[in-house]
Amino acid sequence: MSSIQTVGIIGAGTMGNGIAQACAVSGVNVVMVDISEAAVAKGLATVAGSLDRLIKKEKITEADKAAALSRIKTSTSYDDLKGAELVIEAATENYDLKVKIVKQLDGMLAPEAIIASNTSSISITKLAAVTARADRFIGMHFFNPVPMMALVEIIRGLQTSDATHAAVHDLSTRLGKTPITVKNAPGFVVNRILVPMINEAFFVLAEGVASAKDIDAGMMLGCNQPIGPLALADMIGLDVCLAVMEVYLQEFGDSKYRACPLLKEMVAAGHLGRKTGRGVYSY
Ligand code: NAD
Repeated sequence: MSSIQTVGIIGAGTMGNGIAQACAVSGVNVVMVDISEAAVAKGLATVAGSLDRLIKKEKITEADKAAALSRIKTSTSYDDLKGAELVIEAATENYDLKVKIVKQLDGMLAPEAIIASNTSSISITKLAAVTARADRFIGMHFFNPVPMMALVEIIRGLQTSDATHAAVHDLSTRLGKTPITVKNAPGFVVNRILVPMINEAFFVLAEGVASAKDIDAGMMLGCNQPIGPLALADMIGLDVCLAVMEVYLQEFGDSKYRACPLLKEMVAAGHLGRKTGRGVYSY
């Protein structure tokens, strides 16, 4: 299979514009589609601002920025995705919306084109099954901020072919990322381990084993983590952490995924973390 040269991206939000930047700086052509002119303009402006910061840090030149931006075409019409060999869906996390989008893509893309989803929580196997190209459907789970984060989880649905996996693995490497291959399962690898660890930190806090500051210092200094689990919970949002634990409990039916009562209490109180000015810590 020849390597992927043109990538379509659905959604110009946080992840979509980050993926667009990662592709464009690596010489891959991009067509970034969102539902409104305002959304695509905002996405493109975010890429330009991010490239400007890289120029300030002397990591790229003005010419590199111009070359990268020239590779990004924006549109509000799915018709402009027709030439893409791969389309990465990075729209709002909503099952019904994603089903609608992947069905629409399946109906209009070239038969050999691959569809990928950047979903954090929806089953790749299930999304693949609504298309007529389940063998050419895969998960590409990028991390935020995409231009900085080296990891891509490549999620194989039950039906994903070896050729599809190989093409997406090759592209991920060309984007300067380190891909890991993951079988479709709730939370994939990173969030499956990370969120229960955060939940456990709430149990340790609730039991009075140590203070929040000492729990975070322990994990930072003892495990070389750049940020402690409770401070990270405040960044992610306590409500998001709770929702993820509830999905794991439901999907696996295993009580080891029960959410810590203190986490539930804090969410009930509206102490959701940085976004509400108060979580484990005050901001
Ligand atoms: P976001 O809200 O920043 O962006 C979503 C964009 O999708 C919006 O611009 C919205 O207008 C657009 N959109 C909605 N419906 C559309 C449609 N029918 N066609 C085209 N565009 C449409 O969200 P985000 O944080 O970028 O998340 C996108 C996806 O990435 C989600 O599936 C999320 O789970 C996943 N994800 C997010 C993160 C993160 O840290 N934010 C990390 C990994 C994966």
